[in-house]
Formats: sequence, structure tokens, C-alpha cells
Amino acid sequence: MRTQEQYLERLAKMKKNIFLGGEKIGRDDPRVVHASSAIRMTFELAENPEFESLLTATSHITGEKINRFTHIHQSTDDLLKKQELTRKLCHIAGGCIQRCMGCDMLNGISVTTKNVDLKHGTNYHENFLKFAKYFQENDLVGAGSQTDAKGDRLARPSEQWDPDQYLHVVERRDDGVVVRGAKLHNTMAPYADELIVVPTRMMGKDEGDWAIAFAIPADTEGVTLIAKEAFTRQREDNLKSPMSNIGDLECMTVFDDVFVPNERIFLNGETRFAGELALGFALFHRHSYTGCKPGIGDVLTGVTALLAEYNNTLKVEHVKGKLVDMICVAELVYAAGMAAAYKSTKAPSGTQVPNVIYANVGRRHAGHAIYHEAEILCDIAGGLAVTLPDSKEYNNPEIGKYVQKYVTRKEGVSPENCYRAYALAEDFLASELGATFLVAGVHGGGSPIMEDIAIWGTYDINKNINLAKNLAGIKD
Ligand SMILES: Cc1cc2nc3c(=O)[nH]c(=O)nc-3n(C[C@H](O)[C@H](O)[C@H](O)COP(=O)(O)OP(=O)(O)OC[C@H]3O[C@@H](n4cnc5c(N)ncnc54)[C@H](O)[C@@H]3O)c2cc1C
Repeated sequence: MRTQEQYLERLAKMKKNIFLGGEKIGRDDPRVVHASSAIRMTFELAENPEFESLLTATSHITGEKINRFTHIHQSTDDLLKKQELTRKLCHIAGGCIQRCMGCDMLNGISVTTKNVDLKHGTNYHENFLKFAKYFQENDLVGAGSQTDAKGDRLARPSEQWDPDQYLHVVERRDDGVVVRGAKLHNTMAPYADELIVVPTRMMGKDEGDWAIAFAIPADTEGVTLIAKEAFTRQREDNLKSPMSNIGDLECMTVFDDVFVPNERIFLNGETRFAGELALGFALFHRHSYTGCKPGIGDVLTGVTALLAEYNNTLKVEHVKGKLVDMICVAELVYAAGMAAAYKSTKAPSGTQVPNVIYANVGRRHAGHAIYHEAEILCDIAGGLAVTLPDSKEYNNPEIGKYVQKYVTRKEGVSPENCYRAYALAEDFLASELGATFLVAGVHGGGSPIMEDIAIWGTYDINKNINLAKNLAGIKD
């Protein structure tokens, strides 16, 4: 397994293909390193005895000890551990831990490659196993590149005025394919070793060129990463906090005629399986959400309760009721994820697959509630969450005393602690990073309608209709 230093060293050696803030940068740029803090934590804590049993697993390919973020789940226990791990790491990271993307991609691909091979006699699963072994042995980080630009939302890929709106094959060669298109909103692609690419939707029979899945190094010729940073407000040194070190780069990943060798291809034209792969990744990712959303929810509940305590409103009935609302969201989502693990099934590949209904109802509930949780924080915190004077004014020799006096709440709590608590509320409610978490809470892993579709497509509603008919005495 790698250390965080080894992870950064490998990134620094990659070719420069990131554009950020008007310049072309390498992966040793301080903004890239800053944004990678959550990923670095997944290396650091794997060496910590307290986290070892959660953060490491035994590879089903080599039998070696590996980082759990490179593991293919083999049991209910694996799914439960991934969920618990995700929640715990979110507590420390203060938000999205990002590395689940690659893990969920690997798990989705492990299932579908086997199914395609069984149906078509292809050798995608062998390709996958070789890639997964390399990924595990080198303890790599994979970005999940699924969401296409999609152009006209109601037009199919083959009906788009511009065929590149969905990533597709533009040339087939004996040794591989050439692809063109773009994948949007790719979290952490600028500090991932590999880009793992799957279709974003079902494909029609005539859409074989769009039914393509593969993995390539993130600095492959023809790949351009157009990045956008999401950081918290930077404060003066004496008022910095662990949240100051947290960040995220989102990315528009452009594939401008990129060659993908045969051994890195996991699907190539078998249209029937494009939808299965799209939904398969989404299923594993939504199960991850049943760990991270409760984790972020715990932090939001924490800052809300802390401010209530400092304001001396924690005993007030409506405040307690609102905190209970937040607790219920986190625990119900977590419980749904546990149910998805307990009701999981084994795919022909041997991968343990979460239950579709429970993973989706959990993710759906989290997505519907995320702005409500933020609203409660906003409600209890009051306006200072967005009007808090900057740390420079807090430290100003002339007027700092006013800031310190008037940010202070109940007697006995220091001005600095009050300031820090409000600064944390500002990080969640009014920073680029906080806003990104909120939007990700709705759209990450698929927009709310996608969970509705997954639930409606899987749920046996006729069973319920028959219950009603039976109770109504209807015989037909
Ligand atoms: C912060 C963040 C991080 C993300 N990280 C990743 C990542 O790492 N990798 C990745 O691949 N993706 C990632 N995503 C992408 C995420 O999965 C998408 O945002 C989501 O699937 C919605 O796609 P979209 O943004 O293109 O919105 P749209 O597809 O435009 O959807 C917006 C809304 O339009 C409506 N709509 C769209 N199409 C239809 C239709 N055909 N019929 C009916 N209604 C429709 C729905 O109401 C939908 O909610 C991330 C997103 C965010 C916000």
C-alpha cells in the first residue's frame, strides 16, 4: 500500500494536462495538493491501527492486504465496512471523501464485465481483473467519469445534433479504439491516477459506438482536464482550522480523439449492457452515499448544536425538534444502507451487490433532505453565518476588539471559540466548498429522478395492488 507521499510523488510525475484559473498546471500545483487532502487521508489512516480493519481488506485477486478503496466487495460485511468507513472518514474530512468514486466504478465494472462475457463470449472480465490487480497492487486512485455533456436532454445519443455530446468511439483499430467526447462534473479527476469511464445511460441497438467503458491514465495523450476549485474561505493563520485544509477540484474531462488499448476496454458495443453498467456503478455509488450523507449530516448536526449551545438556545423546544429532524435524516439514510448490505446478493462475478431498493430509498431520502438540513443550520445559526467579519478584521489592532466583543454569545465561551463556530457554519453555508456539497447532495450519483426511476423499475407494485384487492374483496 502507498503512503500519501508516494501518492503525491506519482502525481507530480504525470504530464501537465490540467487547466485551472487561467493557466496550465501540473499536479504538484499547491491548489491540486490542497484539494487532494481527503484522498491523502485515505492513505494516512490506512496505517493507523484504529482505522486499519475498516480501511484495509484482503484482495480476492491476490490474497494480499489492500486499501479498501481498491477492493471488490465479496460479502455483506465488506459492504457494511465500506459504509461505516465512509461515514467515519467524512467526520474527519468535514465532507466528501472523494475516493469512493473509483471503488464504486471498479465494483460496477466487475459485475457487468462478467455478465457481458457470459452472454457474448467476450473477455472483458479478464481485462477487468488484470486492471483491478494493477490498481490494487499500486494502490491507485480512480476518478469516476460517467456523466456526459448530454446536449439536448430529450434526444438520445444518436439523435444529438452533435454526436460528441455523449462520449463515443470514432475509430476502431486492431489494437484498440479512439474515443471523443467529454465527461462533466468529474470530482477529483485532476488528482486521480486513472480515469474510469462508463456510459451514463441505456443505449439503443444502433448506439454501439456510445456503449463504451474503459480505464486510462489521467494524463493520456488527448485528455484535457478543465478544473474548477471549491475551497473554504481562507483565514489568517491563528484562525485556521482543519476545514481550511479541505478542498475539492471538479472537472470537465475532455477526450479529444484519445486512444484506448484493447486490454483497457471493459465494454465495446454491447448496447444491452450499457444501461446495466450505468446503473451498476450508480447502485454502488448510491450505497456509498448512505455512508457519506449521514457522515456529513452528523457534522451539520454538530455545528448546529454547537451554535445553539453557544447562543444558549440548545434547551429551547423548537431547536431540539429541529436537531431531531437532522438526526432522523442521517440515521434513516444509514439504516437504509445497512439494509441494502444485509439484503445484498452475489453477482456471477462473485461481487456482493447492494439491494437496489434500499440503496436508492436511502440515497433519495438524503438528496431530498440536504437543503432542509442546511436550512435548519441557517435557521439556528442566525445571520452571522454569512455576515461574520473576515479574520483580518478579527485580528485588526484597531477594531479587532469590536469583532471579538460582538461575535461572543453566552458568558463563558471565548470570543475565539464563538468566531470559530460561526466560521465553520460559514464554510458549510456560504463557501464554494459548502455550496458544492449541497449541490452534490442533490445531483451526485444521479439526480433525484434517477432514484425514482430505479425504485419504480425494481419495486413490485403489483404485489401491493394485490394486497389491496384482497382486503377490498376484489376477485379478478
Ligand atoms: C458536485 C458534483 C460532483 C459530481 N461528481 C461526479 C463524478 O465524479 N463523476 C461523474 O460522472 N458525475 C459526477 N456528477 C454528476 C452527476 O451525476 C450529475 O450532475 C447528475 O447525473 C445530473 O446530470 P446533469 O448535471 O447533467 O443534469 P441534467 O441531466 O441536466 O439534469 C437536471 C434535471 O433535468 C431533468 N432532466 C434531465 N434530463 C431529463 C430527461 N431525459 N427526462 C426528464 N427530465 C430530465 C431532471 O429533473 C434533472 O434533475 C457530479 C455532480 C455534482 C453536482
